[in-house]
Amino acid sequence: MCGAPGSGKGTQRDRIVEKYHLAHLSTGDLLRQEIATGSELGKLLDSFISKGNLVPDDVIIDILAKHIDSLDADCAGVIFDGFPRNVAQAEALEKMLAERNEATSVLLDLQVEHDELITRLLNRGKVQHRSDDNIDTIKQRLVVYEEKTRPVNDFYKNINKYQAVDGMGTMEEIFERIDSILKQF
Ligand code: AMP
Repeated sequence: MCGAPGSGKGTQRDRIVEKYHLAHLSTGDLLRQEIATGSELGKLLDSFISKGNLVPDDVIIDILAKHIDSLDADCAGVIFDGFPRNVAQAEALEKMLAERNEATSVLLDLQVEHDELITRLLNRGKVQHRSDDNIDTIKQRLVVYEEKTRPVNDFYKNINKYQAVDGMGTMEEIFERIDSILKQF
């Protein structure tokens, strides 16, 4: 599941996981867990995240490699949220899956208007107190999204695995749109 910061990836992921009994891997959640331990690695990660920049690929691919084989083997599938964040990560993911005789089914691109993204992120900042939900960091995250993450859509379009989802509307409406795509799988 891809989309700009604030597009609702985490919210919709929880609902998909519940309905389809999927395992999930959220790089953002895993990075925040590491930061919460107060470790040296966590401090290093926070120095990227709090500025709105991506964490380097080698760290992310290492996290992926550590977690991919510990996902519940009996689950109906896996949802990756917030990953891949650039084309190099998409290539690494596809390679890692191919080595396990697996493949991605679909990339869901949650599309939300720019002003709505900012409103949602500022509101979340008030509730969750994330170090990256402030206006300066939000602006940088949106720039990084355009430069680095948006090209991931083309990567999946080229292999016919791309589906755009209108991410505007109520949580229920958006979930129904996602659900109608996932039913095909
Ligand atoms: P998220 O919770 O997915 O919005 O991620 C929050 C922040 O964690 C991002 O702005 C990045 O700094 C970092 N992050 C999360 N996932 C990745 C990833 N796959 N690659 C690089 N950085 C990531």
